[in-house]
Amino acid sequence: MKNVCILGSTGSIGTQTIDIIERLPGEFRVVALSAHSNVRLLAEQANRLGSAHACIVSDAVAPGELRDELSGGNTRIYRGVEGMCEIATLVEVDVVVVAVAGAIGIRPTHAALKAGKNIALASKEVLVAAGEHTMRLARESGAKILPIDSEHSALFQCLQGAPEGSIERLILTASGGPFRTLPVEELATVTVEQALKHPTWNMGGLVTINSATLMNKGLEIIEAGWLFEVPTDSVDVVVHPQSIVHSMVRYRDGSVLAQLGLPDMRLPIQYALVYPERLDTALPRMAVADYANLTFEEPNLAKFPSIGLARSASAAGGTMPCVMNAANEEAVGLFLERKLPYLDIMRKVEDVMGRHNPVEAAYDNVLHADSWARAAVRVGTN
Ligand code: MG
Repeated sequence: MKNVCILGSTGSIGTQTIDIIERLPGEFRVVALSAHSNVRLLAEQANRLGSAHACIVSDAVAPGELRDELSGGNTRIYRGVEGMCEIATLVEVDVVVVAVAGAIGIRPTHAALKAGKNIALASKEVLVAAGEHTMRLARESGAKILPIDSEHSALFQCLQGAPEGSIERLILTASGGPFRTLPVEELATVTVEQALKHPTWNMGGLVTINSATLMNKGLEIIEAGWLFEVPTDSVDVVVHPQSIVHSMVRYRDGSVLAQLGLPDMRLPIQYALVYPERLDTALPRMAVADYANLTFEEPNLAKFPSIGLARSASAAGGTMPCVMNAANEEAVGLFLERKLPYLDIMRKVEDVMGRHNPVEAAYDNVLHADSWARAAVRVGTN
């Protein structure tokens, strides 16, 4: 029986993680949960799963609100990022699922790695903003970082048993988002509603907009570089609108290995939790013959400047990927608040990156660069 802590338990990945855990009775015990601000769902999960520890992250939630919703007096309550660090390092925790939105997951992930906890990682920002430090902490403590991101799970699966030095290219697939076929001149007037309509995956707001701009793929290039210890210029992106091939590895003999499956995040979540096992949790099966038309195309880099921005952020190194990510999160926030037109998301990111001189991505520098980039985006917008 493995003891699990889930950071971000009320979000899309968090709720699907609980679904998988409930499909595997006797394998996992949920001992700690954290949520940003959804008190009611957090309490409902803690009550149902008998979680002994629950953390609410947002200051906007009044103290006592969570206590009122919890059915018994047995759940200990924590608050803020500090609270996430505390529950992620509890002695009894074996694996921490990091599924919070954005860079807020860095500190608890680092705390957990230092404590030797294995991480099932959905929050790619942790590696984008602080990849070097994160990987070093994992090496030092011997803790594993298992990817939940579907593309990285696919790569991880295709890389099982790969001989040292045999990888030629990592090929990330991208759905292309809702604007793949939209004429470029119509991008200027797209609405929040249009951008939130993802063709194949059902996800949270930030991630869905990142799929529309392809920034999600930009972040994933950097994530793959750290996770699999390859230079980011050996990580390619190919648009695959059906989202059935989740990514591919080309080996130096020319062979390409792909992982296929229905677009269902529960599969990569499960693999990260039970790796290296393959267990049957009765997830829907893919009938291969139903997918007679799997297509692949080059991404339009002029229409989607995010990929180029991510490659230059990676080349600049240090705090630049952190600045790119923070500027993007903030600009997406403004877009969702209808304070910024769609095309200005990437303009803001490029502008803020152009004003940043990267320094070493030590933890304090990352925090500073993150808040500087957010403020820089907000300037002149209200
Ligand atoms: Mg992904």
